[in-house]
Amino acid sequence: MTQRENLSVVLYEKKKLGLEKRPIPEPGPDEVLLKIHSVGICGSDVHFWQNGAIGSYVVKKPLVLGHEASGTVFKVGPGVQHLKPGDRVAIEPGFPRENDEYCRAGHYNLSPAIFFAATPPDDGLLSQYSVHKANYCYKLPESLSFEEGALIEPLSVAIHSCRRGGVTFGSKVFILGAGTIGLMNLLVSKAMGASQILICDLSQNRLQNAKEMGATFTFLTDKNTSAEELGQKVKDALGGAMPDISIECTGAELCIQAGIHATKPGGIFVLVGLDKPSANIPILKVVVQEIDIRGVFRYCNTWPVAIDMLVSKRIDVKSLVTHRFPLEEAVKAFETVKEGKGIKVILKCDSSNQNP
Ligand code: NAD
Ligand code: ZN
Repeated sequence: MTQRENLSVVLYEKKKLGLEKRPIPEPGPDEVLLKIHSVGICGSDVHFWQNGAIGSYVVKKPLVLGHEASGTVFKVGPGVQHLKPGDRVAIEPGFPRENDEYCRAGHYNLSPAIFFAATPPDDGLLSQYSVHKANYCYKLPESLSFEEGALIEPLSVAIHSCRRGGVTFGSKVFILGAGTIGLMNLLVSKAMGASQILICDLSQNRLQNAKEMGATFTFLTDKNTSAEELGQKVKDALGGAMPDISIECTGAELCIQAGIHATKPGGIFVLVGLDKPSANIPILKVVVQEIDIRGVFRYCNTWPVAIDMLVSKRIDVKSLVTHRFPLEEAVKAFETVKEGKGIKVILKCDSSNQNP
C-alpha cells in the first residue's frame, strides 16, 4: 500500500501552507485507516496558518490541518469490532488518551491529555488517508451526505454551547455573531425549542442567512454601536423582556460586554468565541444580576445526537456549505475563508467518490 500517495495539507510555519505527499499510515490497535472524503475549513485552521499559534498551542513542526471531517473506512486495525472497510463515517477529531478524572466525570473535552486533530502537536485530517481512533468514528446513515458528516464538528460546538446554556422549550436566546458557530447555535436553539432567537453581526449577508434559518430578530452592528446600546435594542425587540440565555460567538470584547448587558437577571451567558486572553467586562452587572458565565471548550458526547437530529431533519445544516474545492486547490480554499467569503468552505479529498 506504500506506493499509493497520500496528499496532505501541511502548515510548515506561520503563513507557509502547502501540499505534501506523505506515506499512508497503518492503523494500530483500535484504530481505523480512513479514506477522507470531505473536510470543512475552520477559522482556527486559518488562524494557525496566519499566526502560527493559538494561545499556548504553537506550530513547532509541520502540522497537517483540518478537523471537520468525514470519510470511508479503508482498513481496520486489530481489535476494531464496530466498523468494517466501506463504512461511511463522521469523525470526532478529539479523543482522550487517558481515562483521567475528567473522562470519568464525563467531560473528556477537558482532559489535559486529549488528542485533538490539527492542534499542535497532533496532526489533522486534511489528507487523502488518515488513521483515527475507531471509537471516535461514527457510522453515517445512508440518508446523510459526507458534507453533513463533516459539519457535525461545528454543529457539535453548538450542541455543547446550547447544553451549557440550558436552552429549552420557550427560551429566549441572543446569539452574538452569525458565522458558522453562531448559525449552528441558531439551528440548535431552534431545535431545542427556543421561542425567540435574536442574533447580531457586522455583516448584513450573514444576518440574511440567519433570517432564512429562522432568526426572530437580527441586529446589524458596526464599530460605533456600544454594548449598552445593543443590549437595549435587544430588550426593545422583545418588548421589554430580556434573553434568558446569550451565546457569544465572535470573541469580540464589545460582544462579550453586550451579551452581559442583554442577558436577563439570573440568566446564563455562554462564552464560545475565542480571541484575546482577557477582556474588560461589566463585572458589577454580573454580580448584582447573578448572571452565570459559562465557558465552552469544544464538546463531548455530541456525535450520536447530532447524527440523530440530522437524520430526523430537525436540524438541516446543508445550506451552510457555500464553497467546495478539490484537495489540490487547498491553498485557494484557505484564501477564500481568510477573505471571509461565504460560510463553510469544504475540501473534497476523494476524487473517486463524487457523492456530496
Ligand atoms: P466566523 O469568523 O465565521 O464568525 C464570527 C462572526 O462574528 C462573523 O460573522 C463576524 O462578522 C462576527 N463579528 C465579529 N466581530 C463582531 C462584532 N463586533 N459585532 C458583531 N459581530 C461580530 O467564526 P466562527 O467559525 O463562527 O467561530 C466563532 C468564534 O467561536 C471564533 O472566535 C472561534 O474561534 C470560536 N470557536 C470556539 C470554540 C470553542 O470550543 N470555544 C470552537 C469553535 C469556534
Ligand atoms: Zn474548528
